[in-house]
Amino acid sequence: MNRRMAGGTSAALVLALALSGCQKAETDSPAVALTDSLAAAGSAGKEWLSYGGTYDEQRHSRLKGINQDNVDQLGVAWTYALKTGRGVETTPIIHDGVMYATSAWSVVHALDAKTGAELWVYDPGVDRAVGVDACCDVVNRGVALHEGKIYVGVIDGRLEALDAKTGKVIWSKQTVDRSKPYTVTGAPRIVKGKVLIGNGGAELGVRGYLSAYDVNTGELVWRFFTVPNPELKPDGAASDPILAKLGNSSWGKTGRWTSDGGGGTVWDSIVYDEVNDQVVFGVGNGSPWNAMLRDPENKGDNLFLSSIVAVDADTGAYKWHFQTTPRDNWDYTATQTIILAELPLGQGGAPRRIVMQAPKNGFFYVLDAKTGAYISANNFVPQTWATGVDANGRPIETPEARPVNASYLHSPGPQGAHNWHPMAFNPDLGLAYIPAQELPQGYLPKPKPDPATKWNTGFAFEDGMPVDPLDPATLKAMKAMYKGRLIAWDPVKQEARWTVELPTPSNGGVLSTAAGIVYQGTVGGDLVGYDAATGKKLWSRNIKGGVIAPPVTYEIDGEQYLAVATGWGGAYGLAAGFLFDKAVPPSVGRVVAFKLGAKGEVPDPEVTPIDRTPQTARFGDAKMLQAGLVAYSRNCMVCHGPMAISSGVLPDLRWSPTTADADAWKAVVLEGQRASAGMVSFAKQMTPADAEAVRAYVVHQAHGPVAAKPAG
Ligand code: CA
Repeated sequence: MNRRMAGGTSAALVLALALSGCQKAETDSPAVALTDSLAAAGSAGKEWLSYGGTYDEQRHSRLKGINQDNVDQLGVAWTYALKTGRGVETTPIIHDGVMYATSAWSVVHALDAKTGAELWVYDPGVDRAVGVDACCDVVNRGVALHEGKIYVGVIDGRLEALDAKTGKVIWSKQTVDRSKPYTVTGAPRIVKGKVLIGNGGAELGVRGYLSAYDVNTGELVWRFFTVPNPELKPDGAASDPILAKLGNSSWGKTGRWTSDGGGGTVWDSIVYDEVNDQVVFGVGNGSPWNAMLRDPENKGDNLFLSSIVAVDADTGAYKWHFQTTPRDNWDYTATQTIILAELPLGQGGAPRRIVMQAPKNGFFYVLDAKTGAYISANNFVPQTWATGVDANGRPIETPEARPVNASYLHSPGPQGAHNWHPMAFNPDLGLAYIPAQELPQGYLPKPKPDPATKWNTGFAFEDGMPVDPLDPATLKAMKAMYKGRLIAWDPVKQEARWTVELPTPSNGGVLSTAAGIVYQGTVGGDLVGYDAATGKKLWSRNIKGGVIAPPVTYEIDGEQYLAVATGWGGAYGLAAGFLFDKAVPPSVGRVVAFKLGAKGEVPDPEVTPIDRTPQTARFGDAKMLQAGLVAYSRNCMVCHGPMAISSGVLPDLRWSPTTADADAWKAVVLEGQRASAGMVSFAKQMTPADAEAVRAYVVHQAHGPVAAKPAG
């Protein structure tokens, strides 16, 4: 890759994206109560009992009913409509013949796992105004299960326990300060009688932590803050001793982190290491991203941003940490899939228990599980921000990476070389399967944070962006930069065994099975099975909806099922409309289940055609359009798409009839007329003149060459 941008593609640099998240499992008998020991180490079998399949979270099933010889006989057993057009990231849980899947706005669906028949639906009734605090769509990644209860993290910060049979709320706990822009999208985990949950919000300004609640009462048992409080004082939390010892001194006493919370949100990976009786979790990026605005004294690494941290499972007391990106500056979260495994990395090739992760920064890490000691790392995609790691695993940054040079194209960008889409690991073959991507981006530093915007990273994605709609040639050049791939990675040799190139980034999470098949869904709506050893495509089926969620597998009455949810959306899904020259796959929330010999069909999505006619004549002079571009990019772009081109998940403002009427526009943008649908008032962020300038800019885009044709 050319490290420096050619002048003609500077728009690409700026636009890129404005974003940058069981054993013993074989309980055949319904009478068996699900306990911690049942969810213990070992591969997933007939049931899928926890987010990653087992405590080790390898997403590897022991089932072999569907194998390389018969996979071509897979057919649709049933489908179930999740009744949402937003992103669906769920890992369904399967126990006692019931599937528990979540959809947008944290709604839980309980289904007959054999037929898809609906048993109950629980809607937590989230105030849609919460949606603007969600960096990356109002998604949810799944529930946890424990002794007759279902646990769900709700996007407004609640953690709730439901009756698994009825969906009735048993207890509900608010886990965050509702005056701050926290959101919860991750799946809770059950560890030794506690339910663990983190949160998100580092793009908008929060302080991250992981909490453990009593499974029965919902009482807080322990909490671990990942960054100090601004006074550098004890919180009365499990993190106090280690923050006093290591954390506080890694931050200055001034800067935006003291008001924005510093970030470090624990929004996805939380894994129980049963062997070492510890919880290993991934920590997110800094808040704001721009390290020189966040902590201008620049005296330390800003612990524990972008780190893998291990704590005692009972008390939350610190055990070890490994920081993947010291003093994060680029939204390089280390929240991605953490997998525990035994690899021949001990003395003389003896088995050694390790932690592996492929975080956003593009390095694949292998650490000792007991001590956190660095074992090895290597880059799994091309990088421009670092040339490698030193003997301790610390990245060797390129000179251009910091301070950020505005003309430099950083790879990975904030979407990461690997995002939340779950990675899997086949212990028989010793291969990890990474849903990887290349999404380079420029970072243009702001001299100071903009106090008014909600999305507040300390970088200006609007600066240098053209007011006029992009020409097709530039768009084509941009598209060519963005790549998706499925990589089979050997964590011992730290090299790729095989790679499948995919047409777009941000494809689905991965499932591995003992039959030697790896399954992944794609943005284009294909569910594909590959030979786990070679990457040869064995089977695929189009399921009429973009996939970002990971598949799961289970067995009922001797038949193996393969299930995955469709539902295009999430961070990339909201932002990437301008990259599609054909229709974006419709965002249809649906669970699709397959089994051998089934003959079902996936219903065609109901897509309402959009009238792509400008609703009013252009207005505004160059100055007004420029003001509109800036205000749009700071306040509207993350949901409605760069350049006012929506991906189709949320309304494409170019064709909105509201653009024709200044008063109607103002009522929506400034007066909250559609707050109940999630479009809150932006009166705190925009003046009436700003709002009118945004209208002029959006109308201007409607009159340009249509760069994308969203489907619905
Ligand atoms: Ca982030």
